[in-house]
Amino acid sequence: MQKVINGLIIDPIIFSYPFVPKCDVCICSGECCWYGVYTDLKEMEMILDKRDLVKKYMDDSQTLDEAKWFETIEEDKDFESGYCAGTEIYNNKCVFLDKNGFCSLQKAAMDLGEDKWNYKPLYCILFPLVIFEGKLTIDDEHIERMHYCNKAKNQTSTIFEAMKDEIRHFLGEEGYKELLDYKNEYFNNVKMEVLDYEIKK
Ligand code: SF4
Ligand code: SF4
Repeated sequence: MQKVINGLIIDPIIFSYPFVPKCDVCICSGECCWYGVYTDLKEMEMILDKRDLVKKYMDDSQTLDEAKWFETIEEDKDFESGYCAGTEIYNNKCVFLDKNGFCSLQKAAMDLGEDKWNYKPLYCILFPLVIFEGKLTIDDEHIERMHYCNKAKNQTSTIFEAMKDEIRHFLGEEGYKELLDYKNEYFNNVKMEVLDYEIKK
């Protein structure tokens, strides 16, 4: 059974894929940000509009030259505007990552008392989840590169449990409730199939 919420197919792997209980950049140094991220064109424009603010939250490991913040714009249907641009890599990390592993975009929003995700690209908020070809799924290729959250000994939870706030933010309360119902329905079906298999053995 395929479930669609807010126009996206839900990949049930998000319910069970093992993960750390919580992101903690004091442990992982924010290594998922070392490779940059794809931003929607609208997000890129918003960040450039806020350039003076963002620069206040950058340190000497980052560039204040906004011409070096984004790659070339590309077409991509997985983005709301239909276009995206990658953030550039500077000093072996996303241009917006400071030397302590914190995102300057998030620091700016928090310091102003705003929602911490106000200036952050959606794909940064969602990782290790990703939208790929119309499906909400896991970014297994990127997860593979991680040294903390990809280690079995640290994976005492699931992506779904660890990312509840992010999923709720993304899908909204109604969408999140629908997802919880689908999760219960999905696991009930799995249990029934296992039972059926045991009976037939
Ligand atoms: S996804 Fe992994 S690397 Fe990125 S902040 Fe969370 S724990 Fe750290
Ligand atoms: S924009 Fe911020 S959260 Fe996103 S990859 Fe860059 S440093 Fe990380």
